[in-house]
Amino acid sequence: MLREDYEMVIGLEVHAELSTKTKIFCSCPTEFGGEPNTHCCPVCMAMPGALPVLNKRVVEYAIKAGLATNCNITRVSKNDRKNYFYPDSPKNYQLSQYDQPLCLGGNVEIELPAANRAEMGEHRLVKLTRIHLEEDVGKLTHFAHDSLVDYNRAGTPLMEIVSEPDMHSSDEVFAYLTSLRNTISAAGISDCDMEKGQMRCDVNVSIRPVGSEKFGVKVEMKNINSTSHVRNCIDYEIRRQIDCITKGIPIVQETRRYDAQLGITQSMRSK
Ligand code: ADP
Ligand code: ZN
Ligand code: MG
Repeated sequence: MLREDYEMVIGLEVHAELSTKTKIFCSCPTEFGGEPNTHCCPVCMAMPGALPVLNKRVVEYAIKAGLATNCNITRVSKNDRKNYFYPDSPKNYQLSQYDQPLCLGGNVEIELPAANRAEMGEHRLVKLTRIHLEEDVGKLTHFAHDSLVDYNRAGTPLMEIVSEPDMHSSDEVFAYLTSLRNTISAAGISDCDMEKGQMRCDVNVSIRPVGSEKFGVKVEMKNINSTSHVRNCIDYEIRRQIDCITKGIPIVQETRRYDAQLGITQSMRSK
């Protein structure tokens, strides 16, 4: 089959750092930089007995984001522990939201590129699944024989904006990220500077025959931090998946790393 015989299906999980002055569960500053491990306290370092207190401003900012994207703001919402063991997390778990997120549903209006400059591009709505709150982790720097950790960023508030698998081209994804960034930064919720790591996204991609309702097996590319990388990794992944299917090789559900230098994706782990 040819490329035109397939429809691509893309869903994004966007992480945006909220521009509050202090962290999500303590009063340490979120300010970028500073000597390593100086923006830390017993709460964000998870000392026994430390009591996390939810930052009211964080909730207000995330609700603002939800209202700006037409979500339903839930009346009851809670935080959950997501266990994972890696030295960038001082607690060995991340406080996130699992089954009761702050915002549900919603959509983001996008404008597609116009056919020529005199015209307006087509507008459509991209559906959102949810927006929830979580906390960021520390930063690891690896050397030949050892690694150093800086926990200044640990506990910085993040919101995760999860879209439905509702985009079908890298142009749509680019328009979605542009629209989302404009909305969130205009509302003063986050600066959304991808170069500074304030906005990062996980890109989920699958393909299916045109006309088919059933979703194909998805591949996830994590932590992409520039819009051009997002575009390139989608374009590469679509070609790879079509190539696999054409050759009769099944797509496996997995996480793949995008190598910006080589412009290719490589398998990391299967799910
Ligand atoms: P996971 O639990 O693996 O993270 P989810 O179902 O929560 O999977 O979806 C995560 C993201 O993947 C969402 O943004 C969603 O839109 C997207 N997604 C889900 N299924 C597909 C698919 N078949 N193709 C492309 N994207 C998908
Ligand atoms: Zn702290
Ligand atoms: Mg995911």
